[in-house]
Amino acid sequence: MHELLNRSSAAAHARLVDHAARMVAARMETVRQPFSGASRAELQRLADAPDLDGLGVGSAAAIGELDDLFLEHAVWFHDPAYVAHLNCPVALPAVAAEAVIAAVNTSVDTYDQSTIGTLIERRLVDWTARRIGFADGDGVFTSGGTQSNLHAMLLAREWTLARHRGDRGTTLPRLHILTTASSHFSVDKAALLLGLGEDAVVTVPDDGEGRMDASALTATLLALRGAGRIPMAVVATAGTTDRGVIDPIDPIADAAEAHGAWLHVDAAYGCGLLVSPTRRHLLGGIERARSVTVDFHKSFFQPVSSSALLVRDRVDLTAGAWHADYLNPVENAEPNQVDKSLQTTRRFDALKLWTTLRALGPRRIGELFDAVVDLAAEVHDEIARDPELELVGRSQLSTVLFRAAPAGADPATQDALVAQVRRVLFDSGRALVAKTVVDGRPCLKLTLLNPETTLDDVRAVLDLVKDAAAALAGITPALGVELDGDLLGTEVRA
Ligand SMILES: *Cc1c(COP(=O)(O)O)cnc(C)c1O
Repeated sequence: MHELLNRSSAAAHARLVDHAARMVAARMETVRQPFSGASRAELQRLADAPDLDGLGVGSAAAIGELDDLFLEHAVWFHDPAYVAHLNCPVALPAVAAEAVIAAVNTSVDTYDQSTIGTLIERRLVDWTARRIGFADGDGVFTSGGTQSNLHAMLLAREWTLARHRGDRGTTLPRLHILTTASSHFSVDKAALLLGLGEDAVVTVPDDGEGRMDASALTATLLALRGAGRIPMAVVATAGTTDRGVIDPIDPIADAAEAHGAWLHVDAAYGCGLLVSPTRRHLLGGIERARSVTVDFHKSFFQPVSSSALLVRDRVDLTAGAWHADYLNPVENAEPNQVDKSLQTTRRFDALKLWTTLRALGPRRIGELFDAVVDLAAEVHDEIARDPELELVGRSQLSTVLFRAAPAGADPATQDALVAQVRRVLFDSGRALVAKTVVDGRPCLKLTLLNPETTLDDVRAVLDLVKDAAAALAGITPALGVELDGDLLGTEVRA
């Protein structure tokens, strides 16, 4: 019986995992660009071809065929020309821990399914809480920042409802979440899922660079309360997904406290600053939040998924507690993490962070995050000096916003080039950059999260951007990248 992992298949398991690891290693060593550049039609054919209803091909063959099917066309975050989204190359010990997690298949819901696993997760929760500055905090690992934010808003809702007379039905539509236009869209999703009113999320003006304006927050809080509304939560972002800027947490905390609103700090991106040897001060005031989101799978170089929600006051987490006779009855005195989680069966992601902390130590992780923030500052300078590029604001973290500005291109052309340049690079597979909209105008975005990427690597990507832009704008016929005849005009090529 070698279908399932058990006593008799344990040796076969080791061989299979070794095979898989060697296959990945061979790709890692030879991949020279972040994506193969295969068309979607080609990939669709590949995905459609294998027979999912026939007899099985066996484990070794099924793993082996992933080489051509998946690895050949995967997006490689370790490649220096991958500079698109908030994806990181992963810490080596964490990848090995992932294999342990999958094989043992621990579920960190109840103590009787996880034992030492629960205690390991709880130590990491305590460790993170202390790094934030919560003396008696608590928390739980989650699937990602989206879930952490939803959970935080659930706790904020219950905390607020407990403070207001009147039944839930009439109070719910009066609750509001205050945040900036740059906060993550998971905050809006949370408002919807939690049954708040359609106008529940109120946009607080920023300082012109994407950071919440604390005096505008006070004004917004006063206006809401004056209108008989209830400010349920203020969500500060540290830092924002596009501009990479950090809301001023201390003055925001003053305002939230003065008006009895729950302060949540979304540090999904910026949590790496918790261990930074040089930039921890950028998170000053975070210890005044009632809840904090951290994404270890962003700035702690952890494989997806690895995230956590932390609360300052452990009592606050009980608002999300449910009990089932079969699982975690009220009288059960064991430390059941399921009491604190939105999930039931839950991955033991904590083990990855544990091995990373043990292997590298927190300071080293912080240095790795510092390296990408330093690199981003250099890239900002580089772009600011380049007449063919236009810098769009400065990040405090590792994003870079800019536009291509080929000679003679007016703003409308520059705007149109954003999507086209991104598409040309994507189709070539040679460099993956992102795009977004800032202050109503499109711009290209780099997210630097690979500490091994050098300034020269980024320069090479910028050269591809400039070549593509010049070619698309009809300035140069000689192309650094190959252009499709019909590209200008078509956003998606099937
Ligand atoms: C990435 C991000 C999120 C969402 O986190 P996921 O792990 O992708 O669910 C939330 N907030 C901010 C600021 C982010 O950058």
